[in-house]
Order: sequence, then structure tokens, then C-alpha cells
Amino acid sequence: MNTKKKLGLYIHIPYCVRKCSYCDFVSFGIDEPAMHEAYVNKLIYEISHKRDHPSNDYSVNSIYIGGGTPSAVAPGLITEILDAVYVNFSCEASAEITIEVNPGTINSESLRIYRSSGINRVSMGAQSFDNATLRTLGRIHSAKEAYEAYGKLRKAGFDNVNIDLMFGIPGQTRGSWEKDIETAIRLSPEHISYYSLGIEEGTPLACALERGEVEPPDQIDDRLMYRQACAEFERAGYVQYEISNCAKPGLASVHNLKYWSMDDYLGFGVAAHSYFEGYRFSNTSDLPSYLGSIGTGGMLGHTQKNSRSDDMQEYIWLGLRRITGIDTGDFKAKFGADFWELYGDETKTLIGRGLLEQENEQLRLTKLGLDLANVVFREYV
Ligand code: SF4
Repeated sequence: MNTKKKLGLYIHIPYCVRKCSYCDFVSFGIDEPAMHEAYVNKLIYEISHKRDHPSNDYSVNSIYIGGGTPSAVAPGLITEILDAVYVNFSCEASAEITIEVNPGTINSESLRIYRSSGINRVSMGAQSFDNATLRTLGRIHSAKEAYEAYGKLRKAGFDNVNIDLMFGIPGQTRGSWEKDIETAIRLSPEHISYYSLGIEEGTPLACALERGEVEPPDQIDDRLMYRQACAEFERAGYVQYEISNCAKPGLASVHNLKYWSMDDYLGFGVAAHSYFEGYRFSNTSDLPSYLGSIGTGGMLGHTQKNSRSDDMQEYIWLGLRRITGIDTGDFKAKFGADFWELYGDETKTLIGRGLLEQENEQLRLTKLGLDLANVVFREYV
């Protein structure tokens, strides 16, 4: 029996075909194979350098290749990265291995290579099946290409697929969102993520809003769209397990749950974050610095040992993102402190406002609390 502690690995590929209008992630619209190769060589160096790291006492049960657009680089590079992981970490045979793909960047050959590299889960950034909405978002693919890409995933044998959707997009109507929900249900992926679009300062979409070229999304519509998605996906048999994520029974993402459960994970690549044995650390988000760094020390941007109170706060607001919420008995076992003595006043107020509900030792967001989660989280920061 494997008694090793579990570990997740996140691998960041920062390249995209071009930037979407809303994107403020660490990603670069650079379509130069030589740059991609240089970056992957650095990544492999970073992964290999962990050989003597305490993480070798762990077994890896999830790997997530995210971005950026991992499918925008040559699939052989993804194989090289995973080979480096397999050599340097003890990976479980049943590990969940996910790659994010953009519908405009996959074909049967790349999918064949992913599968032979051990990838068993694909997260497809469809975002919408409405062409006008896709244009507002500046996506590189059409709705038709998203359908076709999904068909290619199934044909290639992937039986664990996530579809990413977005709502609260300027110009998006409740009718078009309803169609997106219906389409996602009809395609029947194992997992669906649905996020309200945050319009970040400095992005082309934020500038278009400032110039009055697009209408700001209506906040009430945004919440109605959220509720509609939760209800429709539930009716279709999906189990919501986090504010913005639902899955067919038993198919919640092993990797994503680590973030909300404060389990250990290590991140590799530019801007990648880690949480390991009580330390939070991140690599530099400056690509030239990452590429030019000598040794892994030069890649590090920020390291912080979480204090006990940091850990307690994070345990609460990350844990409350899960639909099951947090267990106040587990809180006591983990921190040796009584949850109600420390956070009783604010928690009782939130229960009184109908944002939290308690059942035995379990504390979770109500339906209203799911709508206003940020209001709840602010109380614990
Ligand atoms: S594909 Fe994702 S990471 Fe790349 S530009 Fe678009 S939103 Fe950003």
C-alpha cells in the first residue's frame, strides 16, 4: 500500500497564439518554436533540480499542464516535460494528468501524442459557443471549431474532459448564455467550469469599455446567469463541488481540489505558484528573468512561510469555496484551536445574514452565500 503523502504538480506554459481581449494571465502571444524550446529546456532543468527536494518523499497523484495555451507548443515538448517529471518524481499509475487546450490548436496527431505521454484528462477553453461572444473575448476559435475540437478529443479516446465557460461578458444576453449551457449539457463532458468574467484593468476589453465601445455587463444578469448555470447543470446530473465547478459524480478534479483543500503542490515555470509543507512560494513572473536565471534560486520571485494565522485564514476562505465547506472539528484537529472561539462573532453574523449555514460541525455557503462569496471571504481576511 502506498503510504506516501500526496503531491500535485502544476506546469505553466506561458505561450498563446495571441492574447485574448480580457486576458491578464502571465501569457505571451509568441509563436516562435525556438522560444518554446528554450523555455521547455528551462522547465526541464527546474523539474530535474527537484531531485533532492523533500517532495521526493511524496507520490504525485495529479499533474496539471496549464497556461497560457499548452496546446500552442509542439506536442513533443509536452512529452519531454512529462518524461522529466516521470524521471524525477514518484508518480502514481492512476495520477490525474490534465492538459489545457484551446480549440483552435489541436489536431488528431497532437492528441495522439498527448495520450501516449500519459495525459488522461483535457480541459478545453471553449468559453462560449456564440460567435459574437467569442469575438468580444478575442478568442482565436469559432463556435464551430470548439464543437469540432470536442469531437476530436472524444475520437482520440479522452474520456475525462472539462469544458470552460464564461458568463457576464459584455454584449452577452441571458438567451445566449442559456444556449451555451444547453450546448455544454448536450456535449456531456465529465466536468464543467463556469466563471463570471472579471474585467481587469489595462486589458483591451477594459479599454473598450472605457471608450464606450462595449456595454458593461449587468450585475443582476451576471448573478442570474450564475444561478441558472448551477440549476441547469444540477438538473443534468452534474454535482457542483466548488463555487464555479461541477462534475459528473466521482469526477471532480483531483488537482483543483488540492488548491481549495490546502494540499501540497509544486509549480514549475514562469509565475508558477507552490504550496508545500506550509510554505507558499512563486517563481518570477518576468519571462526574460525566468529564462535567464542561473540555477533554480534565480527563478524564485517570492517565498513566504505561512504563519499559523495565515494558514487558518486560508483554510477558511479556500475551504468555503467547496460546496461541502469546512469542518470545524477538522479545524480544531489541524490547528489545535477552537474555530468558534476565534471566528464565532463574524461567523454567527454571516449565518444571521443568510450567507453561511451550519450542520453539525460542517459550515458552508448558502445559495445566497455562493452569490456573495467575496463578502463572506472578506470577513476572514
Ligand atoms: S488563451 Fe487563455 S492565457 Fe492565452 S491569451 Fe487567451 S485567456 Fe490568456
